[in-house]
Amino acid sequence: MTDAHASVPLKLFNSLTRSLEIFEPVHPGVPGDPANPPEARVYSCGPTVYNYPHIGNMRAYVFADTLGRTLSYKGYKLTHVINITDVGHLTDDADAGEDKLEKAAAERAQSIWDIAKHYTEAYWADVKALNIRQPAHWSIATEYVPAMIDFAKTIAAKHCYELDGGLYFDTTTVADYGRLARHGTDEGESRIDPVDGKRHPADFAIWRKTPAGETRQMEWDSPWGRGAPGWHLECSVMSEALLGFPFDIHTGGIDHREIHHPNEIAQNQAHSCSDASGALIWMHNNFLVDRSGKMSKSSGEFLRVQLLIDKGYHPLAYRLMCLQAHYRSELEFSWDGLGAALTRLKRMLKVIEVQRWKEFEKTGQPAPSSKETRPLPRSERSRFSVLGYLEEFEAAISDDLNTPKALPIIEAILGDSAISLTDRWEMIATIDEVLGLNILKMDRADLRVRPKTATIGEGEIEATLARRKEARATKDFSASDALRDELVAAGVEVMDGDPLGWDWQPVAN
Ligand code: AMP
Ligand code: ZN
Repeated sequence: MTDAHASVPLKLFNSLTRSLEIFEPVHPGVPGDPANPPEARVYSCGPTVYNYPHIGNMRAYVFADTLGRTLSYKGYKLTHVINITDVGHLTDDADAGEDKLEKAAAERAQSIWDIAKHYTEAYWADVKALNIRQPAHWSIATEYVPAMIDFAKTIAAKHCYELDGGLYFDTTTVADYGRLARHGTDEGESRIDPVDGKRHPADFAIWRKTPAGETRQMEWDSPWGRGAPGWHLECSVMSEALLGFPFDIHTGGIDHREIHHPNEIAQNQAHSCSDASGALIWMHNNFLVDRSGKMSKSSGEFLRVQLLIDKGYHPLAYRLMCLQAHYRSELEFSWDGLGAALTRLKRMLKVIEVQRWKEFEKTGQPAPSSKETRPLPRSERSRFSVLGYLEEFEAAISDDLNTPKALPIIEAILGDSAISLTDRWEMIATIDEVLGLNILKMDRADLRVRPKTATIGEGEIEATLARRKEARATKDFSASDALRDELVAAGVEVMDGDPLGWDWQPVAN
């Protein structure tokens, strides 16, 4: 098993064909030649940076990251692009409403550039907190506007028409428009707000002219007047610029299967003068929903990664929660579910700690630290083939990224006392390269995130607990209870006899 060609084939669900397909890269490299590895080029639709991302948005990037990590694991040289939409995305995915960034800037009397910068940085902080790997490129839409104008010029005459509002794409000029969404040019009239003069309901803006007498904060000159690009154009242009056409995989949330990606495909067909959709495989993660059935940035509690942290949940518990569901299944968020994921993570770390202690007791030598363990390179994975764990893992992850099936393999390895600790760590490090949970790199205490509402620091907690221990030792239970109450009032739960061995945990209000 020395290269990607020799491993279990990777099967991915292609939304275009609605079926599982074996991944065949556009650039297969030279089999057996490490200097020419097979490549995987992936484009993921990124966030619109007019507000903080909610945890549902972040599910899309945990999924894209798991895909990228799987491709790397299987020996592909990965080039991943995630874009930052800082222009063009209207308040409606179709062509109605205002530019989300222009609207946010007007409401807050701030410059669009400041807003974009602030929310891009907030998004990157979430990316880091969730251990999402950095893509090869973050492509910023506003940096590609001249390229978007050039792209539009090549398709304007044959595929577009002008209206007062700008340049529109005629969806009947390409074959089989909407095949990704399984709808046609005249369907979905209620889905897409009409724009006066549009030839077909599904036609969409390539260029949005600034209305006479108005100025926008972001506008550029174009052959169709001063204005701004349509949202769909940016992804066609940036994916081609950075990955070439065709490239391997395009990802996004399931909502993009309906409008945004069909429109990208139509543009790609027009631009390439062919029926090619641009990417060979289109993949979509299902939604994270809350009890109301929809996750929103405006209604109820705004579920951001930072809110989870403020409430005392380690962000990787959320990553684990995502991985416990298959990416194509809807996942309902609940605090209990997040709590259960955190407990699962705690349990894994506890097992590691206990096993290191046992090893120490047995040998009298410090047990090998898990933290330094490197994942096994592909050429060495067969060392453990007699155990079957890595094969089982590879089969699960190659089956359309079946992370719910892959996770218990880590627990099985942890629990297999017939294997030496170093071997266990090596297998887990190898698997965790794909799952990204940092299982071997964290200490149990790292999972204890201090909630925002906590009024007491760790040192003080430990000191109070020590005093309580002394009081209990002298059977002074009223003093011990008073100290416990003091901690509870400060947002700390005392955990006597906790099966996972925790003395205390923060309590979110
Ligand atoms: P946006 O910033 O609205 O362009 O969305 C960023 C990404 O999040 C896109 O890929 C969306 O399809 C995806 N997305 C939006 N809402 C959810 C959700 N509730 N669950 C999972 N993915 C979502
Ligand atoms: Zn996109």
